[in-house]
Amino acid sequence: MSGPKLYVAGNWKMNGLRPDLTQIQAIRDGVASVENAPDVTVFPPATLLHAASQIVEGSLVEIGAQDCHVGEKGPFTGDLSALMLKDSGATTVILGHSERRAEHGETSREVRAKAATALRAGIKIVVCIGETRGEHVRGLTASVCRRQLADSLPDESTPETTIVAYEPVWAIGSGVSPTTEQITAVHEIVRGCLKDRFRETSGMRWRVLYGGSVSPANAASTFDSPEVDGVLVGGASLKAATFLEIITAAA
Ligand code: PEP
Repeated sequence: MSGPKLYVAGNWKMNGLRPDLTQIQAIRDGVASVENAPDVTVFPPATLLHAASQIVEGSLVEIGAQDCHVGEKGPFTGDLSALMLKDSGATTVILGHSERRAEHGETSREVRAKAATALRAGIKIVVCIGETRGEHVRGLTASVCRRQLADSLPDESTPETTIVAYEPVWAIGSGVSPTTEQITAVHEIVRGCLKDRFRETSGMRWRVLYGGSVSPANAASTFDSPEVDGVLVGGASLKAATFLEIITAAA
């Protein structure tokens, strides 16, 4: 079955000041000149969402946010709702990134509640799952991913609104990634779970991304896997030139 267009996401994490918006301009212009470009979404910090979304308006690039609150509004000092992100121009939000699970104690149950709120607000979601190094070494990759997937996705998810990103925690920012065969095996498990739970209602294939130390050096081999529908890129998305090399590898 031929899948949807490949998807390349750039997660800037807590990086980026206003002068870095030139990188968004360069990504926008670069993508416009790539033949058969994949779908591209850049996830800058919340402070840049509005300006970044103005820069990409009318282009092939979308802008997304890195987290949202579970509620719609109210007394939650410092938090941002999915509606606020949408109001700033975000089309998508990353939820359940391992850095939020680890540093903010976010559980899959919370991720699922946030995901449901985001979908209600009309924002697409990229839900991250993945095992730690210890779990990987103990052979728990499949069971951890199955459980996180089941617990993190809301029943409202559809292939049109929901993307799953398999991001082994030990591969993030480490320069070490699983082999293409290992990625394929986990993606097959993820896809199987999605099919079992949601059935194929729309006929559209669920997008399952790989994330963890993706770079221009390993992007092509990652895309070699028929199970990989795209990549979630952290460090290598900060500079437009490097990110565009990955985008070109997906074209
Ligand atoms: C990420 O932040 O989701 C990520 C995959 O980071 P990196 O590409 O830097 O490993």
